[in-house]
Amino acid sequence: MRSVSIFGATGSIGQTTLDVISQQADDIEIKVLTGNGNVALLAKQAQQFKPKTVVIADESKHAQLQQLLSGLDISVQAGRDAILQAARIDVDWVMSAVVGFAGFEISLIAAQHCKTLALANKESLVCGGPLLRKTCDEHATNLLPVDSEHSAILQCLNGENLNTVERVIITASGGPFRKYTLKEMRDVDASQAAAHPNWSMGQRISIDSASMFNKAMEVIEAKELFDLSNDQIEVLVHPQSIVHSIVGFNDGNMIAQLGPANMAGAIGYALNWPERAVLDQPRLSAKDLVSLDFSELDDKRFPAVSLARRAIDMGGLSGAVFNAAKEQALDLFLAQRIGFLDMATLVERALDHYMLSDWSREMSLANIQFADETTREFVQNCLTEDVA
Ligand code: NAD
Ligand code: MG
Repeated sequence: MRSVSIFGATGSIGQTTLDVISQQADDIEIKVLTGNGNVALLAKQAQQFKPKTVVIADESKHAQLQQLLSGLDISVQAGRDAILQAARIDVDWVMSAVVGFAGFEISLIAAQHCKTLALANKESLVCGGPLLRKTCDEHATNLLPVDSEHSAILQCLNGENLNTVERVIITASGGPFRKYTLKEMRDVDASQAAAHPNWSMGQRISIDSASMFNKAMEVIEAKELFDLSNDQIEVLVHPQSIVHSIVGFNDGNMIAQLGPANMAGAIGYALNWPERAVLDQPRLSAKDLVSLDFSELDDKRFPAVSLARRAIDMGGLSGAVFNAAKEQALDLFLAQRIGFLDMATLVERALDHYMLSDWSREMSLANIQFADETTREFVQNCLTEDVA
């Protein structure tokens, strides 16, 4: 029997994780499920999977959740502290799938209490990759990516020596605005940006895909996971989202991983690693592979990836600054306070600001939280001063 906790169970990744787990239900026991505000879905999941503990982040929904789960032998809790406490429960496998910086501390605590940390929350690696890696090393915790590109790299590396890797190529679908001019992108709204052509995901990562900030985060994620330098990581636009990543080795050989554009494959791989288990999900046919297109990323229309490369070169807490500026800018875009293209401008200004700051560069949780908070304020203040 394996014990499992899922943080962010009600989200896109969380729900797919439960789907995958339900196919292997015989040997999996769920200890913890958490959600933020969707109390009805969280209650439904708890009724079906019977975890020991359920936590809802939004405390105002506590009583409602308690009522929906009354009579069941489930500890029902609420609030941020209760979520962090739930991350301290020892289990075999944790899915970290809360969206945004809120997921970082959860990943960090869970890394100390589980055998395997399946990491969908890429923000954890962007904001504090070295700290998370160190924590996993100290506790002998396996850190497995749940991002299609990074799961692809891990699969390509199976049985390989990491020292023989020359480079990786991660693919990007190009999102809904792949063919848009800058002028056309200026006036797009959130619903256009969230309409991803291939993947069904949460709203925030969908918009990040349209702006290429998702790919930018993934470049940092690849660097942190596989100890690569900036110039060992390339990005290639591939509209079909069938080839997820390609790894190039020191003998000139390359290995690519292919699969359908859904997260079940990556989640199933992380759940069963280093083995594989039968998974009921769509198969690609040979016909699907007849026409695969690749093109270079246009940095002028999509500057996010070059901003991430700049953050990598800057080092220190620049990843946390990058992420906080991006999250705050996305909030402002969602609130219709800024345009789609202003998001990149604000991230660039936040990185400029960080370069001139005298903050401690040392990577600790407190310093990362400080960088996050201060950068959000900075971006908010940019708005009242002039930008956009
Ligand atoms: P989502 O918005 O669908 O779900 C987010 C989950 O986090 C929900 O359960 C929500 O209730 C919870 N949550 C949100 N804010 C919270 C808070 N402050 N405290 C506690 N819980 C909170 O997002 P998603 O698409 O499932 O993405 C989750 C993570 O996985 C993100 O980091 C994303 O970048 C990453 N990811 C997603 C995909 C995908 O296909 N959806 C692919 C790769 C990586
Ligand atoms: Mg991805």
